[in-house]
Amino acid sequence: MENAYLAPVVGEEIPRGHIRIDGDRITALGPGPAPAAPGAERIDGTGCLATPGLVNTHHHLYQWASQGLVQDATLFEWLVALYPVWAAMDAEVVHGAAGAGLAFLALSGCTASSDHHYVFPKGRGDLLAAEVEAARAVGLRFHPARGSMDRGRSAGGLPPDSVVEKPDDILAATAEAIDAHHDPSFSSMLRIAVAPCSPFSVSAELMTESAALARDRGVRLHTHLAETLDEQEHCLAQLGLRPVGYAEKLGWLGPDVWFAHAVHLGDADIDLLARTGTGSAHCPSSNGRLGAGIARVSEMLRRGAVVGLGVDGSASAELTSLSGEMRQALLVQRARYGPAALTVRQALEIATLGGARNLGRAAEIGSLEPGKLADIALWRTDTAFGSAVADPVAALVLGSRQPPLARLLVGGETVVADDELRTAPQDALGRAGGAAHRRLLRLARERGLTTAGQVGPAPGRM
Ligand SMILES: [Zn+2]
Repeated sequence: MENAYLAPVVGEEIPRGHIRIDGDRITALGPGPAPAAPGAERIDGTGCLATPGLVNTHHHLYQWASQGLVQDATLFEWLVALYPVWAAMDAEVVHGAAGAGLAFLALSGCTASSDHHYVFPKGRGDLLAAEVEAARAVGLRFHPARGSMDRGRSAGGLPPDSVVEKPDDILAATAEAIDAHHDPSFSSMLRIAVAPCSPFSVSAELMTESAALARDRGVRLHTHLAETLDEQEHCLAQLGLRPVGYAEKLGWLGPDVWFAHAVHLGDADIDLLARTGTGSAHCPSSNGRLGAGIARVSEMLRRGAVVGLGVDGSASAELTSLSGEMRQALLVQRARYGPAALTVRQALEIATLGGARNLGRAAEIGSLEPGKLADIALWRTDTAFGSAVADPVAALVLGSRQPPLARLLVGGETVVADDELRTAPQDALGRAGGAAHRRLLRLARERGLTTAGQVGPAPGRM
């Protein structure tokens, strides 16, 4: 790759430089055209910006099939309305939703994504295998987090008892998922994480046993934490602690843990996350849609905490692209904390290296450096309307429209070229996502849910 503006995130930016790729690795990068290499493919990056591929660290891909519902609700209201819909999903829904969601992420410059799947209704097929298959077809690095809920309403939790599982079944299925799919190698395309859902849907025992399982097997831990004030009140009333204090008591802090959201944090909470190397996935669009609040990202970075980005599930953020989330993160921080709260380069860093740190892969991905995997996004910044922006990184982060994606490489392999998915038929994946949506609503109706009345917008409401 040559003649591009290189923004490697680590090290100096190079206004017109080259990146040499051998196999799945970056082997050199520097100013000027690439040195001669007989037989090598040359990608001309003239008029383009090269960045590390973006890294998504929180998602619920199955929610592609339940977008646009429960539009004006708090997190708890939204969950209570949607749990029974999600209880109807099967492997076909998950496969269709995951294919569409991952294709959409790739088209927004994402090269690695986690997914947090925590609803496993009985007898509906192998839902985890369904999303793994979808990720293989699209060609992104995939970090599915085997989620779980064991604390139903009868035990003081939020979800109905019908969607929770038994702790022994959860731990056995999670261990099986690690055995079946986890690849710890440097070039790994798939790593499993262990991810009980949230303090209000999981017992303390399952949290502790999940941590023990993950640490025994050398995989990472993920959960939702400190997303809303309702959650904080629930934790104080039922558990006697604020969310971060509860996580600390359960042994859920450390460099192998990353939380989704981390919105409602005090100074001491932030310092504790920073000191223990615990990561957070910032999801500004979802937090905005649900009115959850604004995470203290600039303060977290100032105090040395690890912060990555997440698009969160499509049911709370609809068609969220990861490049859009990078812009959203910057705008929301500045709207709340002033124009110096987050620079465009900090926004790019949390979208790349911050995400890599959340996934425990900062040695492998997240920046353009010799020795790292060739996960690269090449953005076209010389379009008719885009060519008047002085700084290509500002054009990418501040622009209200994503620049065309000239190329997306994962391990040196082309996944997107000229805004089109090259690994799988893009339109068919999109249509399968629509079919998954219709199938889920039909399955939910067959189970007695009248979704239009129960989860749609109120009739006549503007
Ligand atoms: Zn979430």
